[in-house]
Amino acid sequence: MNRWIAERTKSFDSSGIRKVFDLASQMKNPINLSIGQPDFDVPEPVRAACIDAIQHRKNGYALTQGMPVLRDRIQAQVDRDYGHGDRKVFISSGTSGGLVLAMLSLVNPGDEVIIFEPYFVMYESLVKLAGGVPVLIDTYPDFHIDLNKVAEAITPRTKLILLNSPANPTGYVSSEAEIRGLAELADRHDVALISDEIYRLFCYDDPFVSPAQFNPRTIVIDGFSKSHAMTGWRVGFVHGPDEVIQTMLKLQQYTFVCAPQPAQWAAAAALEVDMSAHVTAYRRKRDMIYDGLADLYETARPGGAFYIFPRVPWGTGTEFVTRAVAENLLVIPGNIFSRQDTHFRISYAADDAVIARGIEVLRRMAGGVRG
Ligand code: PMP
Repeated sequence: MNRWIAERTKSFDSSGIRKVFDLASQMKNPINLSIGQPDFDVPEPVRAACIDAIQHRKNGYALTQGMPVLRDRIQAQVDRDYGHGDRKVFISSGTSGGLVLAMLSLVNPGDEVIIFEPYFVMYESLVKLAGGVPVLIDTYPDFHIDLNKVAEAITPRTKLILLNSPANPTGYVSSEAEIRGLAELADRHDVALISDEIYRLFCYDDPFVSPAQFNPRTIVIDGFSKSHAMTGWRVGFVHGPDEVIQTMLKLQQYTFVCAPQPAQWAAAAALEVDMSAHVTAYRRKRDMIYDGLADLYETARPGGAFYIFPRVPWGTGTEFVTRAVAENLLVIPGNIFSRQDTHFRISYAADDAVIARGIEVLRRMAGGVRG
C-alpha cells in the first residue's frame, strides 16, 4: 500500500504530536496546560446567530468569497484600517485554510520560505507540501526578530516570509520596529510577506501592529478561532492584493469550496461582540503564570496570545515533559515547534485554579532531579 502514498506527504511527519496525544490519553484528569484554544465558550449572541441561521435554512453552500453579511463588513473594516485600494477580503475555512491556499498560490517547488523558529507546527509542513524549502531563522532566547539575520537569509530563491505576531508557541509580540523593518525588507526584495494574525486580539502590553500598515502588499491571514473561541466552526479571513486573493479564491473553489455558511452568519454577529473582558482576564493569567515561574525558569515575558515558552531547567524538553506527565501535568515539548528540544510550551488558556496547580508542579520540578 505504501506505493499508493504520494511522495509529497513523506517529507514531514506528525510523530511528535502523536506522541503528546498518546501521553495525554493515558492521563486521568490531568492538569492540562496544553490546549491551543480559549477556555471560554463562544459568546451567547454568536451561538444564537448560528442556530438562527440554521433554523432559517441558511445551510447551503456559501459564496466562494464568503457571505456578504460577513465579507462586506470585514472589507469595510479593512478599508478603514488600511485604505489600500487594492486590498481585498475573502472568507476562508479557518486560518489554516487561508494558510494552505496561500502556500499553494505562492510557492513553487524549490522556492525558499523564511520561517521564524520556534514556529507554529503547521508552517514547516505546509511549505514542504507545496514543494518549498523552509529556511528557519533562530529567534532564541528572547524570540525577537533580528532583521540582519533575515536580510542575510534572503536569496534569489526566497519567495515568502511567514510572520506570526503574537506568536504560537512563544506568546512573543514583535515590536513595531521589527514589524516595520520586516515589512520594508520584504517590499525592497520583492518577497511576499504573510502575516498570521490569529492572536491579534490578545495583545497585553502594546497595541497590535500589522506589517500591512507598512507594506501594502502584505497578505494577512486571520480568523475567529481564538478571538471568539470558534475553533470548531472553521471561519477565517484573508486580505491582500487583489491578484493574490483571486488566485486563492480559484483554489478555494476546487478545494475547501467555502467556509460553513451558518458559521459565517455567526461570525458576522461575533464582529459586534465586545471581547475585552476576556483579554483583561488573559492578561491577568499571563501575569499569574509569568510571576509564578520567572524566578525559577529562564523565560521571556510574553506580550500576547496565551502561551509561555520557558527553557527546561534540566534534561531535554521531551525528558522534562515526560516527567511532568508523571506528575499529572500536561504541557508540550518544544521540539514540536522547533528543531531544538530545549523548551516547553504552556498554554494558560485555563481556569485560574488549574494554572495555580500547574505552577505548583513546575516550581517543584525546577528544583527536582532528572528522572
Ligand atoms: N495560526 C496559528 C499561529 C495558530 O496557533 C493556529 C491554531 N492553533 C492557527 C493558525 C489555525 O487556526 P484555525 O483554527 O483558524 O485554522
